Amino acid sequence: MAKTLHVHTGRPYDILIEHGCLEACGEQIRRVSRAQKAAIITDSNVGPLYAGAVSTSLEHAGFQVFSHTFSAGESSKTLGSIGGMLSFLAEHAFTRGDLIVALGGGVTGDMAGFTAATYMRGIDFVQIPTSLLAQIDSSVGGKTGVDLPQGKNLCGAFWQPRLVLIDPELLATLPPRFFADGMAEAVKYGCIADASLFAHLERENVQDFLEEMLFACVEIKRRIVEEDERESGRRMLLNFGHTLGHAIEKYGHFEGLTHGEAVGVGMLLVCAAGERNGLTQAGTTARIQSLLQKYGLPISCEAPLDTLLQLTANDKKRAGDTIRFVLLRRIGESFLHPLAIEQLPAFFAAMKTL
Ligand code: MG
Repeated sequence: MAKTLHVHTGRPYDILIEHGCLEACGEQIRRVSRAQKAAIITDSNVGPLYAGAVSTSLEHAGFQVFSHTFSAGESSKTLGSIGGMLSFLAEHAFTRGDLIVALGGGVTGDMAGFTAATYMRGIDFVQIPTSLLAQIDSSVGGKTGVDLPQGKNLCGAFWQPRLVLIDPELLATLPPRFFADGMAEAVKYGCIADASLFAHLERENVQDFLEEMLFACVEIKRRIVEEDERESGRRMLLNFGHTLGHAIEKYGHFEGLTHGEAVGVGMLLVCAAGERNGLTQAGTTARIQSLLQKYGLPISCEAPLDTLLQLTANDKKRAGDTIRFVLLRRIGESFLHPLAIEQLPAFFAAMKTL
């Protein structure tokens, strides 16, 4: 059964969750675009699997289709790659009325989106996320960008897609570690805003209610993004576990734990500190820990906590000398808790590691 969510951001758009919507994407995209040309931007892993089907469907819908494939991985997420994509569009004489189709995971969506945001000062783009992480998180909300040598996502733009097409069928072939990577974000949504989603994940196997789960996660993200499109307040709640998670990723030079794995450990660390400081209901960390384990995610990391706190002090989300951590009151209820850099050791005191 198809489900549609309407996102009321500055530029409103729909998110469609439907089995088989990748193969029928042309028809859906034609409803929102009168473009003559469509550029499929994809990577060397996803392109061979799905670009053919997407291209055929777009052609049937009357688009002239061009494909640009970059080599898969975070190391491609550079301004150099963006330059290549912009030149590709210019070489094929794309105009402001034409369209980009981002086909792939988070890296692809971020880069294709940023290319769309900047080519001729902004053209339309459609997201077809192929990983669980991209389907429930990065494809919704309009954050686009690239890494700089100095850090991740330091250059980018808020640019909303025209349409997001989520095809649950694509998840069936994801390697288990990639699926688990996305599950960490699903657990996060339960933690910050939806106790019943969290309980559902505890009780049942996610494969038995996959579409419902996708819908629940995207619905939470939609609500929060609508309230705070440019992340000045509530949207920061989506960063639960991410402040320390980013530090864990940095510690491993982005080659150790995956994003989701690091965020899972980050959630445990900050939640345990919340409990210790009397701000979080006792027992909350234990529930999150069991749920992460259930979905094959790690519950600890090699990095010493004081090193993580030092790395955190350099985080880009730092506002002056204060870091806004996301804490839970209980499962399903979150709040921002600003801490001055010098308060960090005391707040996390007595926690060498988990
Ligand atoms: Mg994330």
